[in-house]
Amino acid sequence: MFDLGKIYTVIGGIAEERGIRAYAVGGFVRDLLMRRESVKDLDVVVEGSGIEFARWFDEKVEAEGSLVEFSDFDTARYVYTTEDEEGHKHTVFELEFAGARSEIYDELSRKPKVSTTTLHEDLTRRDFTVNAIALPIGVNGLGSEVVDPFDGAIDIEKKILRTPLDPDITFSEDPLRMMRAARFASQLGFTIEHHTYDAIARNRSRLKIVSKERICEEFFKLLATPVPSVGLYILYNTGLINEFLPEVSELNGVEELYGHQHKNNLVHTFKVVDNIAERTDNVLLRFAALMHDIGKPGTKSFVPGRGWAFDMHEHLGKKIVRDVGRRLRMSRDDIEYVALLVRWHQQPISLMDEGVTDSPVRRLIVNLEDHLQDLLTLCRSDITTGNPYKLKKRLKNYDYLEKRIAEVIEKDKLRAFQSPVRGEEIMERTGLRAGPTVGKIKKRIEDAILDGEIPHDYDAARVYFDTIKDEYLRNAEEWERGETELKIQNSKPNV
Ligand code: ATP
Ligand code: MG
Repeated sequence: MFDLGKIYTVIGGIAEERGIRAYAVGGFVRDLLMRRESVKDLDVVVEGSGIEFARWFDEKVEAEGSLVEFSDFDTARYVYTTEDEEGHKHTVFELEFAGARSEIYDELSRKPKVSTTTLHEDLTRRDFTVNAIALPIGVNGLGSEVVDPFDGAIDIEKKILRTPLDPDITFSEDPLRMMRAARFASQLGFTIEHHTYDAIARNRSRLKIVSKERICEEFFKLLATPVPSVGLYILYNTGLINEFLPEVSELNGVEELYGHQHKNNLVHTFKVVDNIAERTDNVLLRFAALMHDIGKPGTKSFVPGRGWAFDMHEHLGKKIVRDVGRRLRMSRDDIEYVALLVRWHQQPISLMDEGVTDSPVRRLIVNLEDHLQDLLTLCRSDITTGNPYKLKKRLKNYDYLEKRIAEVIEKDKLRAFQSPVRGEEIMERTGLRAGPTVGKIKKRIEDAILDGEIPHDYDAARVYFDTIKDEYLRNAEEWERGETELKIQNSKPNV
């Protein structure tokens, strides 16, 4: 089992035995200094080879976790997992071993060439000073002699994000670090120091050399932060968002015509994302909130007598989501989930009136399937009025709609409900042929169950069937007799 104390002892032991040093670095140390409880991974930098050290570690802990080697980078990961009742594995903790290294980047790609160097050199190549602090690991745990060549601890105190090197160099080497700046600002509540901030605006077009997968992964980490608008405004104000999601920038602006203004859709959208972040950790649903009005700029028109209109923006929005999703290399399922929510986000509002019949409610239920709750979460978050009275009233309307939906689902369940004694069995036991009498018997059993006369199970339905069947058979006989007499009468020639 995973035990941090034991991990220190083992790593410290190996270091002592081999006469090399091992350090904890990166987010783990930063979070520790911030007394932040979110430790899920530990980056370890060792003198020499990362892979070799990881193999020694694996031997000593005797297969508590599993070892994954990345020989191109001379790094290795050691993963601790647990299994749930269904046999799915979940990562509990990850160790990453890297040799003290400097990565030399070539201009056109960000694939580093790894060469072994010192710890100091390793820290120099990190993204931010707050992530470039090392603490030695010994058999008794973490040592107190902090290696902090860029005053990261002071920056943690001051809540500042700053690059260890000239930001133009740090960002140009790996432009994804610019997105990480926005994410950390949002996640940690830090301010980006102004030289670093200006460098993002200056270097933003370098993001082109980063793969869309990495961009999307980092962007979703930003959306996963408690108040995503902090990071979103940084991406917007520096222009970095235009490198991968320019559609969002298009939302900005307010136009006025004949004294009519529409709301600023960028400001509204970012507020909706913050609202939804209070309601759900589902990052795709948060992304749907960011996309919900994305069709507005393309459908905007001024209609005399009505003012500003964005008719059918949910349809255009669905198309844009598909374009964006493909561009960001999202999976098909994820794209369709977001597209579905964007397509239907206007619908619930139109179902608020008291007079609305069941069928449009049913249509929504059928179209959204398992995602109806998510749609309602989006709709509730879409209310950005500053007026607390209006907010309360609109949220109440959604509660009412939710009740309505539950009622329709219940009704439909009852409609699909069937007598436990089926038609075939009724025919078999009575000798009746398929026809209205069989239907009547079945209906009678169903009514008895629905009225609570008998319980909803087969045995009770069988007993009940036995008590009522003769009545119907008698009627059926009489009816058939009548039918025969009628036929005889009709077949008599008219005289
Ligand atoms: P968290 O785990 O909370 O997301 P973190 O700081 O641990 O934050 P990771 O992505 O786990 O972030 O990376 C671990 C460390 O590796 C970072 O603290 C940083 O020192 C370094 N690092 C990660 N990605 C980069 C990068 N693109 N450029 C430079 N250094 C990086
Ligand atoms: Mg980490």
